[in-house]
Amino acid sequence: MKFIHLKCDSCGAELELDPEHLQAYCQFCGSKLLIDMDQLSELLVEKEKTKRVVESEQNATKREEIKYHYKEERSKRKHREEMTELGFIFGVPILSIIVLVAPVLLIILPILAIVYFVLKKKK
Ligand SMILES: [Zn+2]
Repeated sequence: MKFIHLKCDSCGAELELDPEHLQAYCQFCGSKLLIDMDQLSELLVEKEKTKRVVESEQNATKREEIKYHYKEERSKRKHREEMTELGFIFGVPILSIIVLVAPVLLIILPILAIVYFVLKKKK
């Protein structure tokens, strides 16, 4: 926080003034102080600049956060897509094996059973 430097017109005391407060009284003699408007506006301009710098820094941080968020979302989505691909790569062959093998087993097993019983009877 920058202070405005003032000189009391009545007693000549050197004072510092918080620019938030536009009115001030001398701590030493109690007279009301006049604020140099040029100095004040300079300070306010500087304050505004500082505010803008802070805001733009905050915006930059926010942008960074948003960028990071999207990056993360993208990588998550990519991961999901990869998992889906993996599911297809492994799932489809396994499913097709089951689909193909199940009827074969359904046909072959009874035949094997019949053959087994026929051979057993012959003995
Ligand atoms: Zn004074």
